Amino acid sequence: MDYKPCNVMKIIHHVVTIVNTQAILYNIEIKTNYHEEIEELEVYCEENKIKQVFINLLKNAIEAMQKQGTINIYLEKNHQNVQITFQDQGKGITEEELQHIGKRFYTTKEEGTGLGLMICYNIIEKHNGQIHVESEIGKGTSFIVTLPVK
Ligand code: ADP
Ligand code: MG
Repeated sequence: MDYKPCNVMKIIHHVVTIVNTQAILYNIEIKTNYHEEIEELEVYCEENKIKQVFINLLKNAIEAMQKQGTINIYLEKNHQNVQITFQDQGKGITEEELQHIGKRFYTTKEEGTGLGLMICYNIIEKHNGQIHVESEIGKGTSFIVTLPVK
């Protein structure tokens, strides 16, 4: 494995650039919210894997919205962790669906694979982090990723 100290904001800026081309098609704006101190923050990680997680979460957020709106990314330092929240204004996830998301091949999309979140959970677990989900039907969903800082 190839774990290195990586700047979190640099990773976020890069993944936002990548998914922005898709977001623009739906008039979705991706906003990043953080205090100055976050700019220096590093996590010990396999950078490409963490990018893959963030890209998967942002693509799911765009697919849940499919209309004009804002995806907010919040970065916060909390003790020895960084907490990164991906908050969309999409359709939300029902209690029933919440039991199944992240299981292999579980998808509600016609062309979905149901692999994205499973991969996200596996990668974050390997980095000693966690993913939490909060959702309200018709309002939106937040995926909250917690990672230990270097
Ligand atoms: P896929 O995107 O191929 O369906 P994922 O593992 O990425 O597979 O997601 C599994 C399911 O979780 C999706 O089909 C969708 O029902 C639900 N889901 C994931 N992210 C969101 C989100 N941000 N808003 C609403 N539903 C979501
Ligand atoms: Mg997906």
